Amino acid sequence: MDLGFSAAQEEFRQRARTWLAAHVPSRPLPSLETEEGFAAHRAWEGELAADRWSVVSWPEEYGGRGVGIVEWLVFEEEYYAAGAPGRVSQNGISLLAPTLFDFGTPEQRARVLPPMARGEVIWAQAWSEPEAGSDLASLRSTARRVSGGWVLNGQKTWSSRAAFADRAFGMFRSDADADRPHRGLTYLMFPLDAPGVTVRPIGRVDGKPAFAELFLDDVFVPDEDVIGEPGQGWRIAMATTGEERGLTLRSPGRFLATADRLLREWRAHGDPADTALRDRVADAVVGARAYQLFTWANASRFRAGEQIGAGSSLNKVFWSEYDIRVHEAALDLLGAEGELRPSAPGPSTPAPGSPAPASPPPASSAPAPPTSSTSPTDWAEGYVFALAGPIYAGTNEIQRDIIAERLLGLPKGRR
Ligand SMILES: Cc1cc2nc3c(=O)[nH]c(=O)nc-3n(C[C@H](O)[C@H](O)[C@H](O)COP(=O)(O)OP(=O)(O)OC[C@H]3O[C@@H](n4cnc5c(N)ncnc54)[C@H](O)[C@@H]3O)c2cc1C
Repeated sequence: MDLGFSAAQEEFRQRARTWLAAHVPSRPLPSLETEEGFAAHRAWEGELAADRWSVVSWPEEYGGRGVGIVEWLVFEEEYYAAGAPGRVSQNGISLLAPTLFDFGTPEQRARVLPPMARGEVIWAQAWSEPEAGSDLASLRSTARRVSGGWVLNGQKTWSSRAAFADRAFGMFRSDADADRPHRGLTYLMFPLDAPGVTVRPIGRVDGKPAFAELFLDDVFVPDEDVIGEPGQGWRIAMATTGEERGLTLRSPGRFLATADRLLREWRAHGDPADTALRDRVADAVVGARAYQLFTWANASRFRAGEQIGAGSSLNKVFWSEYDIRVHEAALDLLGAEGELRPSAPGPSTPAPGSPAPASPPPASSAPAPPTSSTSPTDWAEGYVFALAGPIYAGTNEIQRDIIAERLLGLPKGRR
């Protein structure tokens, strides 16, 4: 097996590195979970897009470079190594766009994708409801057929960045008489400033205001904003999410960069006599590299036309637990200094999540993790963010059930 890169891929890496070196802001942007930071990150998306670096794997007609999954992974490695800002467009790019590529109409792709690539329209994921998280198929928000479109009612919750986003995508119950809960759902897009939409921020432990719940009160959506066939929402949503989570939700580039930061902290502050902590640092470095190799293997399978399917649950459990471990190691290494919280706008921070149905691996509205590191306080913010990893994108309990049943062939547990 050849694990090397082609000359063209190396050249692509070099071009990305050169561009990033010239453009990554010299100071971290304010958190994208704040209004000011959201605007700054939106502008950054525009800068990326101006030189076609915002969605490298998309076809050129929609603003991409038409490159493959390997080049995308290469770009991500360079992106995080350069300490570039978190991606405020991540929900749209990693969840809605793949859905539109597979199930959207040419008109929808032409209308939705270019402004998404430029950061002009930023999307929120509106899947979860107060009574529908892991058991997403029990969602109760409705879509009622009217002339020329649909009328939405209900409540969505835990919507990352919805307080500042422009539009949202989600599933609605369009047929109350369907014989199974996941039948009779319709996948729709809607504006967050439409009449009848109320967006209410949900308080977060870090005090940042972008996380929100949505209340929909007779919100009209035209037919052109239905994705795929009415009633097929579940199949459409699930078809794209597993593969995306397995490959693109959390690229190894992010963890390689974090492990590298930890190693630098160890070299600067570590006590050589503390062999237990030294081993945790070594584990973090090895873990990031293992995740990179595992993802490359998935990418190779994907390129060969194979499905990743339930294997994406392995990825999710691994990176979410890894992220906590690496931050804990850093905080233990830095001691009290690592616990200090920034009082001024800090580095780009994340914003997560998504729901998990009980059967096919669910979507995940991918948070944009903290990237650039300039102070020890970044670790504390990153740690708080990492704690949410086992919850969003489908809880790890659900992922472990999927691994047990589908990969290991164990009997179904009692529920
Ligand atoms: C930071 C963050 C960001 C998020 N962003 C978004 C977003 O942008 N858009 C969006 O739609 N959603 C988002 N979510 C919601 C997220 O997807 C849900 O929190 C998640 O799917 C879990 O659903 P729940 O919170 O309703 O918990 P529940 O489903 O009520 O689960 C509670 C606990 O019970 C366990 N459990 C439930 N059922 C089973 C079972 N069958 N077997 C074993 N254990 C089980 C769960 O694993 C969990 O530990 C976000 C969540 C977080 C934390």
